[in-house]
Amino acid sequence: MKEFDFKKSLGQNFLKDSNIINKIIESIDIDKDTLVIEIGPGSGVLSKKIVPLSGYSLLYEIDSRLKEVLYSELSENNNYKIIFNDFLLQDIKADLQNYNYKKVYVVANLPYYITTPIITKLIKEVFPDKILVMVQDEVASRLSAKEGSKKYGMISVLIGSKYDVKKLFKVSRNCFIPVPYVDSAVISLVKNKKNKIKTDSIFEKLIKDAFKYKRKNLKNNLKSYDLAKIDKILSNYNYSLNNRAEDIPVCVYIDIANNLF
Ligand code: SAM
Repeated sequence: MKEFDFKKSLGQNFLKDSNIINKIIESIDIDKDTLVIEIGPGSGVLSKKIVPLSGYSLLYEIDSRLKEVLYSELSENNNYKIIFNDFLLQDIKADLQNYNYKKVYVVANLPYYITTPIITKLIKEVFPDKILVMVQDEVASRLSAKEGSKKYGMISVLIGSKYDVKKLFKVSRNCFIPVPYVDSAVISLVKNKKNKIKTDSIFEKLIKDAFKYKRKNLKNNLKSYDLAKIDKILSNYNYSLNNRAEDIPVCVYIDIANNLF
């Protein structure tokens, strides 16, 4: 890939460190019952390890200049499809209907400029059993943050309500070509069976409103809600309306959302 004209605008920082590539693959138990989705296969460094392990793999790559290298890297396999399109525009539910599988995993070194929209789309439209992705280190910290941390925000709660999120390991910027400005990290999201949200739209609106103004407490951010009811639930967990959104654990938000109406 030496002569390849990497496009910064597409987040094209390709992994070149074989130890990290192996470490990523070893962090997830892909088997023949697994359908794997990879977003942004690039030159196929991860894909050529993923595809032979999987039952079937769906690879979404926006840059059709990578066609030749990808088909050549995967030439020994027939259990995959590459879709050359913007993943964010793809009707992924329709794609999945064509296959039989017991579980869906996502493995990807994500293009950094659309990390959150990709993860949000995956959770809303696919709800994969596991997601193992490389993201910028700072983003990894935000996605895996727990209550009480400054990095804990709406996205940590949204993801934490459906997945157990762990930052697995950091990856130095020197493991990529071209070298990006920041380090990365690999995070794993495993579907969480404990948390049961009754209505997603109510839960999502609640956390959006709770985190609306970072400096305000819950009493101010949730003015338009039944505050007496919320206060009662909060007090069961030793919190109050004077707390800020960042103090409240995911399970408490779920309890509030499930009992609002
Ligand atoms: N998987 C390869 C690796 O680890 O070396 C490449 C990872 S690189 C960080 C991100 C990849 O995502 C690039 O191949 C880029 O072309 C692709 N990409 C960027 N935006 C995309 C989009 N909207 N849909 C699908 N692929 C995209």
